[in-house]
Amino acid sequence: MRPLLTAFLAAGLAACAAADPDPGQTVKITPLGSHAGEFCAFDRALILEDPNGTRLLYDVGRTVRGADDPRLGNIDAVLLSHAHGDHLGDRHQSGADAGTCAQPDASVSDAPQSGTVKVAVAKKAKLLVGGEMGSFFQKKLAAAGGDSGQVQLVRFGGERDVHGVAVYSVPAVHSNGLSPAFLEGEHAQALEANGLTAYMGPPGGFVVEFTNGLTVYLSGDTGHTAEQETLVRRRFGAELVVMNIGGIFSTGPAEAAFVINELVQPRSVIASHANEETTVGGQVKEGSKTAAFIALTEAPVYPPLSGRTMAFDARGNCVSGCF
Ligand SMILES: [Zn+2]
Repeated sequence: MRPLLTAFLAAGLAACAAADPDPGQTVKITPLGSHAGEFCAFDRALILEDPNGTRLLYDVGRTVRGADDPRLGNIDAVLLSHAHGDHLGDRHQSGADAGTCAQPDASVSDAPQSGTVKVAVAKKAKLLVGGEMGSFFQKKLAAAGGDSGQVQLVRFGGERDVHGVAVYSVPAVHSNGLSPAFLEGEHAQALEANGLTAYMGPPGGFVVEFTNGLTVYLSGDTGHTAEQETLVRRRFGAELVVMNIGGIFSTGPAEAAFVINELVQPRSVIASHANEETTVGGQVKEGSKTAAFIALTEAPVYPPLSGRTMAFDARGNCVSGCF
């Protein structure tokens, strides 16, 4: 029986290899932060590049220095988790390394258009949003010189294709109020006067399946969610997680570590949204939230050092550029 068994296993492995789409290729992830080589307070934006060249920009934030930021290059799709100003882009840094890592300069206003809309229009990129954000951004893009057809709504359970890269919407437990600074007219003033925001539907995160087989979970701003186990792990098997660790507004280090260790169980993690100076000279500071998160997390955690490209294989292993 042994030769037969061996032949059977070999055939099975060959079938697996044939079905596995180019596992030797890597997904390249480049953080666009405020200070080169560091992980700083406002850092959120990442470029994720598929082996086929498709480039996704996740949460523009305040550190993308306008639509002509030379770090952007070609962008096929912008993914927006929710409409809070530090993700949508209410203002941005005036120049490379402006301000300190703890308090980056973000003196250039992008309201009422937003950094997200400006980048999507300039790059003629798709803009993927969930909740009630679709019709809002259709109007915004059209008013800013873009095409309302660039906006692609994707709600929980749904999927969009970007040149062979599958983008799924998954829940985030957070909030999603739009500041009146992005609105015009008398209703904006009424909201502002009453300290209210505009309803944009639920916030979200994303699961992205790249063509080499790597599946990445982008948490958005969130607390623990049951779907981190039921969907992100059991349905999608995410092997790389970009995880918010800032606390107060989302899971902090201990709660984020629980999400990683118990719920998602990925191969690798990139910390995000620390809301503090995390590194000096590219080294994680003792006593920082990221240091606590690293200590509590079983999988390797990589700080997103601005401008340093990390490459991940199909299994979520970092094969270059991780520190
Ligand atoms: Zn938020």
